Amino acid sequence: MAAESTPTERLSPFLDLKAQFATIREEIQSAVARVMESQHFILGKEVESFENEMASLVGVPAAIGCASGSDALLLSLMALEIGPGTEVVTTPFTFVATAGSILRLGAKPVFVDIRPDTFNLNPDLLEASTTSRTRAMIPVHLFGLPAEMHRISEIAAAGGWAVIEDAAQAIGARYHDLPVGSIGTTGCFSFFPSKNLGGAGDGGLVTTYDLELADRLRVLRTHGSRTKYCYELLGMNSRLDALQAAILRVKLPHLEAWTQGRRQKAQNYRVLFKEMGLDSQVRLPVEPPECVHVYNQFTIRVPERDRLREFLRGRGISTEIYYPSPLHLQRAFAGLGYKAGHFPEAEAAAREVLALPVFPELKEEQQLATVRAIAHFYGVSH
Ligand SMILES: *Cc1c(COP(=O)(O)O)cnc(C)c1O
Repeated sequence: MAAESTPTERLSPFLDLKAQFATIREEIQSAVARVMESQHFILGKEVESFENEMASLVGVPAAIGCASGSDALLLSLMALEIGPGTEVVTTPFTFVATAGSILRLGAKPVFVDIRPDTFNLNPDLLEASTTSRTRAMIPVHLFGLPAEMHRISEIAAAGGWAVIEDAAQAIGARYHDLPVGSIGTTGCFSFFPSKNLGGAGDGGLVTTYDLELADRLRVLRTHGSRTKYCYELLGMNSRLDALQAAILRVKLPHLEAWTQGRRQKAQNYRVLFKEMGLDSQVRLPVEPPECVHVYNQFTIRVPERDRLREFLRGRGISTEIYYPSPLHLQRAFAGLGYKAGHFPEAEAAAREVLALPVFPELKEEQQLATVRAIAHFYGVSH
């Protein structure tokens, strides 16, 4: 990427992980050195300490590290014994792993459309999508905004269904002052480098109140084994590396400040869009009063999305599309029999969303340049 970029193309990167690393280089290097000196790489003290720190951040008694956010979802479903003949209700407007984990276990993902303002699962449509085979729901806190957990939990409790929170994009977010990951049966987190708390590679974690479930999750992540060479469940090999845990432990104390930084950048965008009179052309992300949004993405909505993106690219401003196609229209999910038109809100969002750069080190001049460029695109003078 760097090789191709002209000076203008570097005006505003989408994400700048090097800027973050520069602020914590020595701490990271000493954490890595500590693990290398110990030569203890699988689970152990670093992972346990990180799990405890995450449990306390989320406010739950148990946190179980694993290899990725995708595996956090998979392990949650496995621990709940979800498999062939069962159904799990979720959103089609999400990262592939949310529904992929369901299908991989031989269960059926049942999609429910989203709300056009929050991009999150629409609770009004939930009940009608359940059957006698429903076992769980996976709401996603998309882009860092909590889903409507009270209504979702209420519906799930009435049916006796589990709720798996996909909190991969939402670490630190709150719903009615409750941390995400503490509301459902389990909470699933990802430490993919571009998430708000990113490791030096893949990593994930499951949170839960349910200590029996926590025990099953620990057994499942280690080949289904509690005692060496004794396999009580069909598990997998999905552990958080000690190196990742040590690195994440350096970053975790900075998370709150980084989240405030992201929220500040989001607020700056709001002020700039308003000042430039772009309110009618550009729909900004919503933040309902009961939610604390952590802005893993700052996603705007515009009908002329592709043309705007090209225009911004030409001015050195990087943007991304999360997600260009909802999951029900992807080949890997074709067997479910969904067609275009089944989830009109998810399909419209896929055509109109555009994520602007938002990260703690983003500069105000870069934000101003981005919003100015959007104003030029719309021919708005100021
Ligand atoms: C990133 C992400 C995942 C998967 O996390 P990985 O750690 O990359 O496996 C799952 N769901 C959502 C919504 C995500 O954004």
